[in-house]
Amino acid sequence: MTDCAVPLRTGPLGRQLQASAVNTALSTPTTTPAGQAPTHCDVLVVGGGVNGVGIARDLAGRGQRVLLCERDDLASHTSGSSTKLIHGGLRYLEYYEFAMVRKSLIERERLLRGAPHIMSPLRFVMPHNPSMRPTWMIRAGLFLYDHLARREVLPGSTAIDLRGSPIGAPLKKSFTKGFVYSDGWVDDARLVVLNAVDAVQRGATVLTRCACVDARREAGTWRVTLRHEDGRTQELSARALVNAAGPWAAQFLADHAHVPQHKALRLVKGSHIVVRKMFDHDHAYLFQNPDKRIIFAIPFLGDFTLIGTTDVEHRDIGTPAHIDDSEINYLCEQASRYFERPVKPADVVWSYAGVRPLLEDGKGNAAAVTRDYFLDLDTRQAPLLTVWGGKLTAFRKLAEEVVDLLAPAIGLKQPAWTENAFLPGGDLNAWIGAAERPDTDFERFVLALVARYPKLAPPLLRRLARGYGARVNLVLGSAEQNADLGAEVAPGLFEAELKYLHQHEWARCADDVLWRRSKLGLFLTAAQREAVAAWCTAHWGLMGTPAPANGEAAAWS
Ligand SMILES: Cc1cc2nc3c(=O)[nH]c(=O)nc-3n(C[C@H](O)[C@H](O)[C@H](O)COP(=O)(O)OP(=O)(O)OC[C@H]3O[C@@H](n4cnc5c(N)ncnc54)[C@H](O)[C@@H]3O)c2cc1C
Repeated sequence: MTDCAVPLRTGPLGRQLQASAVNTALSTPTTTPAGQAPTHCDVLVVGGGVNGVGIARDLAGRGQRVLLCERDDLASHTSGSSTKLIHGGLRYLEYYEFAMVRKSLIERERLLRGAPHIMSPLRFVMPHNPSMRPTWMIRAGLFLYDHLARREVLPGSTAIDLRGSPIGAPLKKSFTKGFVYSDGWVDDARLVVLNAVDAVQRGATVLTRCACVDARREAGTWRVTLRHEDGRTQELSARALVNAAGPWAAQFLADHAHVPQHKALRLVKGSHIVVRKMFDHDHAYLFQNPDKRIIFAIPFLGDFTLIGTTDVEHRDIGTPAHIDDSEINYLCEQASRYFERPVKPADVVWSYAGVRPLLEDGKGNAAAVTRDYFLDLDTRQAPLLTVWGGKLTAFRKLAEEVVDLLAPAIGLKQPAWTENAFLPGGDLNAWIGAAERPDTDFERFVLALVARYPKLAPPLLRRLARGYGARVNLVLGSAEQNADLGAEVAPGLFEAELKYLHQHEWARCADDVLWRRSKLGLFLTAAQREAVAAWCTAHWGLMGTPAPANGEAAAWS
């Protein structure tokens, strides 16, 4: 196993930051060749969404032999289909979820420090008029939001005059005032992959396209059957099992683990649309709808605006989640109540849908169901821990609580360690020296990268900086110019990056690369996406059967 005793250093913000995970392991491939998976582990984690990989990372960092299996691609379900906000959730204050909001608010700046490449602060504008929640209520909510947890980086909330301001410019002229507050944006799919990379660097094994099809308790241990995508099965024993199957958590218990269920999940689909950019500034909008729901309109990847989300009951977990026409119409209508230029269904260039695994709390209204999580530990025989619910924002804390809860049952003594640790690529020290502020640190990093690779295009370097942070050297190596990166398979996508993604990030087919490891799919035509698919098949074979696409590109390209 990898040595995880990494040194501590202190940043100017007075925080102790753990040096990047095991730098010596940077160039070691992370993916496990077929047939080399272990036949015994301490803990088997089922599910490669944000919760599963977060738990695997935490456990591995505490010296456990961990195996994680994900039956599709990492982040190919809920965790790659979110609104991508690292937030407390202002609206949850209306449901008196103070503890949950506080927990998430604390996580915001932690993640920002540990992963300044994939996460960034984001200011939200809430246009206001008298038909909405009263001003005093919004002011009170924002005051609480500002003060429930300590902030060092994110600015507090303020009122704003929208008249004559660039922030008000894209809105209907009837919106003259509003409020501005802070939260964060994260690349959700990369958050998942980076946790998996860190887990592996700390000794875990991560198997993708590998389902846990059977798990039985026998003589104080779990006897497990895994099935790989080629149909091959593999037997395994594990001392403990963590069920992090997200929306499939209940189904996994009933169908595969043969354990009677005590809890129920409320499955609520949420969909998003992506349109060409509706505005030219870097703030996002929170729009209040007449049905008391809210939607966000968020600047997305420079050229686009992301609009979402919906709350639709999803009764059959066996049916893949897809956006409905009624959801597209709803999102367009609500956004058009605010934007001067209406949003039309024909404007949609991409859309995606995911299913929230919410704890059933008997609330009628799907938007009101708690976003908090519950951890269920069953130690009657070999330990089984099931994760019910959760939020992307709280994944690290959730993982820590899972491991703390499991620790006595598996004789684990090592303390929690992730609070001040970097995610892979997040430690920019080697490029820019000591960390100052995560947002400005990232810009300094981009400048350093452009200076180091003067012959490579700055937009390419910025994209790679966002995706890979300090690990960018694994993609670029000693390249000086484009030709050193191999063939340009599609505009801005070179063979060097594809090879890196295959070797270190479990990419097995074009969808993994274009829609999860990156969002390059949005910038390419259908023919260019085909070229990437052809390259992947030619170089990686047909092993990469596409994971169920959680997105749908419109015919525009
Ligand atoms: C529309 C929407 C917007 C959201 N926006 C936000 C947001 O902005 N901020 C925020 O904090 N949270 C947000 N959330 C919530 C957040 O995305 C989820 O709480 C989180 O991603 C759940 O992660 P998970 O790991 O539990 O589930 P998943 O990501 O679904 O992972 C579970 C995995 O288990 C795998 N699996 C299932 N059965 C098996 C098996 N038998 N063997 C192997 N693998 C198996 C599945 O393939 C799946 O990949 C949003 C959710 C939705 C739906």
